[in-house]
Amino acid sequence: MRSDEPYEARVAQILAELGIPASYGVDRHMPLHAEARDLVSVGMDIHGRDRQLTPHAAARWTELQAAAHRDDVTLLLVSAFRSLEYQRRIFERKIAGGQSLEQILKVNAPPGYSEHHTGRAVDLTTPACSPLSEEFEITAAFDWLVRHGGRFGFAMTYPRRNPFGVAYEPWHWAIREEAA
Ligand SMILES: [Zn+2]
Repeated sequence: MRSDEPYEARVAQILAELGIPASYGVDRHMPLHAEARDLVSVGMDIHGRDRQLTPHAAARWTELQAAAHRDDVTLLLVSAFRSLEYQRRIFERKIAGGQSLEQILKVNAPPGYSEHHTGRAVDLTTPACSPLSEEFEITAAFDWLVRHGGRFGFAMTYPRRNPFGVAYEPWHWAIREEAA
């Protein structure tokens, strides 16, 4: 028995409860993301919720935000680490609000497949930009991220026409791997 089977079983259970096909992620070549265990606070998001990242990602995010600030660019956190349960509640809330699974899956990865489980992904915004909207693409903050994000290890996971069938997310940036 592989050590990750209990996690896979939990994911399968949640997908079944939400009515998402078990093969959804596999069919789209989406990697299953384990929940990070080692997390540190990175302070409040724009909604006043305490947010966490892995120690490495937290350090890189802090450096990135400070470097942007020195260039007069304000980067604000909308979301960071999200647990399997948190992702499940997003789906439950949207289903209760009348959205179809198809609509939700356009903008939210199913529980188990969200890069936010890794503690290495952040959703960012900037003042005067509506959070989690494509208009982030036309902000100076996005322009700064495209130029400098890579220097801090950050890359966009869902560019236009990504192979995962996920909508374009100019606000979602992640560090590919935890530092050794
Ligand atoms: Zn995101």
